[in-house]
Amino acid sequence: MKISPVETLFTLLNETALILQEELSITYLEALAETGENLFEGTILQEDVSEFASKKLEKKYNELNVEGFTNEEIRKAFQLVILKGMKESAQPNHQMTPDSVGILIGFLVQKFMTNSAFRMMDPAVGTGNLLTAVLNNQLNKEIDSIGIDVDDLLIKLSYINANLQKHPVEFYNQDSLEPLFVDPVDVVISDLPVGYYPNDVRAMDYELRAENGHSYAHHLLMEQSVKHIKPGGYLFFVVPNGLFESDEAPKLREFFKEKVIIQGLLQLPLNMFQNKNAAKSILILQKKGENIQPPKEALLVNLPSLSSIQAMDKILIQIETWINENKQ
Ligand code: SAM
Repeated sequence: MKISPVETLFTLLNETALILQEELSITYLEALAETGENLFEGTILQEDVSEFASKKLEKKYNELNVEGFTNEEIRKAFQLVILKGMKESAQPNHQMTPDSVGILIGFLVQKFMTNSAFRMMDPAVGTGNLLTAVLNNQLNKEIDSIGIDVDDLLIKLSYINANLQKHPVEFYNQDSLEPLFVDPVDVVISDLPVGYYPNDVRAMDYELRAENGHSYAHHLLMEQSVKHIKPGGYLFFVVPNGLFESDEAPKLREFFKEKVIIQGLLQLPLNMFQNKNAAKSILILQKKGENIQPPKEALLVNLPSLSSIQAMDKILIQIETWINENKQ
């Protein structure tokens, strides 16, 4: 049986991570970051591995040339090893954006962003799977990207993922609700962390803060994104289906009415989610600005199962037709 390039790379990352995990007494995900860095730098960076382990690692790295893989092969192999690591560590906040959603948002960015060069930000970049899936799906575009995440391990994985795929991304390891030192961007993509934001003092800086108790992190992150995007810029957020039904929804609606145009809402298929209450949609917004007109009607779609190629093709054509008829 022929082994695919993704499997070959997966096996290398997995086997070398297991060696480093054992040698350095660290978690699998941490070991993955270490082996990814070795692969990128072309050397074994860890000083405290035994000579025997070092020889084994060297042999494995020498068996393969990462230059021979496409970006999507690297991203997919990295995605598989990270998924394996996440299963082991079972941290609820460590959730990677699935492939299908990344490719779909990549398609939307490609169709909506007609400029040949632009700046893109993901303020909850996590492992970089969504960001690099979107970058890999842009044709003939020059993109400066910015990735921010509060989790230091995830952002390290993100930076190694981007390095191996040769995407020049500026990374910041910080809370995205603290002040951001980034110039205004043209597009924001983000699979938002859903839930309460624990820092009530920082939340005071936001219109979308809750009057009582903790505020919703996903609401505040949308406000922060709108603040850092240029007028006319597009925002693509993965949001919970119940976004407009929560107790804080009236305030969110008011904020949207004042600052953005709702371009569309694409509901992801329910079969993607183990629990229907955790089901999500892709919300497409555009920041208001001079001469920015709302679409004749918003793009409202219930996406079919993303594994049904025919049904997906039909929907993508429908989305493209809508964009051609409505986008200024
Ligand atoms: N798109 C990411 C990927 O492909 O790996 C996954 C995003 S995950 C659903 C949400 C991310 O938000 C997590 O990585 C989490 O660490 C991050 N996060 C949560 N609160 C944050 C905050 N206040 N500032 C920045 N990042 C935050």
